Amino acid sequence: MKYSFCPKCGDKLKSVNHENKTRLQCSACGFIFYQNAKPTASVLIENDKGEILLTRRAIEPLKGYWDTAGGFCEEDEHPEDAARREIKEELGVDVELTGLVGIFMDYYGDGGDWTINIHYSGRIKGGDIKPADDIDGYEWFPLDSLPEVAFESGQSALDTLKKMRAK
Ligand SMILES: [Zn+2]
Repeated sequence: MKYSFCPKCGDKLKSVNHENKTRLQCSACGFIFYQNAKPTASVLIENDKGEILLTRRAIEPLKGYWDTAGGFCEEDEHPEDAARREIKEELGVDVELTGLVGIFMDYYGDGGDWTINIHYSGRIKGGDIKPADDIDGYEWFPLDSLPEVAFESGQSALDTLKKMRAK
């Protein structure tokens, strides 16, 4: 059980059966603490040669692995806006989204939160690439020789894009 205390009143949470699901409920105020996957937005950035830009993670989890560029959505943020913002923060460039590649379930690190990973395709429309601190490198890879990436959802997104572009 990842959470022990009620976020509303601070009393103890207990596991209860609610709508045929095990959920956390507060013993004092009755608040049901629904657990939802966290949404992320990523962009598979393509260039004119049909190559994909991947970044190398400088932070845990999975530090040192290649990754698709993107990150977590803010509470009130449309995933398209989150995708453009994350690319600007991570790489310093403005990106134009060109399509939706797909939506993939995953989780963030060992024992981490479930995530809903929304992957767009996109192109750089302005600026020079200047990687931020949470990235220790980037590289353009041809679609047919991609390295292993950090998250299964990223892998699925790349596989899907490959199929889309093969048509
Ligand atoms: Zn409570």
